[in-house]
Amino acid sequence: MQLQYMTKTQQNTVCAHLDRAKLKHTKARFAVLSVLLEARSPLTIEDIQRQLKVKVHTVTLYRMLKKFVESGIVYQTDLRTGKAYYEFQKEHHHHVTCTDCGLQEEVKTCVARLQNNAQKETKNFKNINTHSLEFFGVCNKCTSG
Ligand SMILES: [Zn+2]
Ligand SMILES: [Zn+2]
Ligand SMILES: [Zn+2]
Repeated sequence: MQLQYMTKTQQNTVCAHLDRAKLKHTKARFAVLSVLLEARSPLTIEDIQRQLKVKVHTVTLYRMLKKFVESGIVYQTDLRTGKAYYEFQKEHHHHVTCTDCGLQEEVKTCVARLQNNAQKETKNFKNINTHSLEFFGVCNKCTSG
């Protein structure tokens, strides 16, 4: 597939991820993943739609993101704004978000071990695939202001 709005490297990255998740290569999937690939922070559905280079119906977009999250390509998180946020994580990480100004910082601290503990504890789940975790606080600038 030849797409003008993506570099060859970006296309290769998207291909690799779609292959790993055993998802078919479609123009819409490429378009959505390219937006997420270039984003510097988690995006809402509205953010993604605004930046899309091709038209993707909202319902299709919801379904697609759901599939991406299920297959582990995209990380879905909750930043307590009442909306879901999506992020393409090259390296798995979490965020600390300022509850005053929204400043965001990435942290590598994770709960992978707790996920294992939950796995051992649960009776009804053979597989716990993923987790959601965010930290909140007031950033230095907002504290001193
Ligand atoms: Zn992030
Ligand atoms: Zn702040
Ligand atoms: Zn984690």
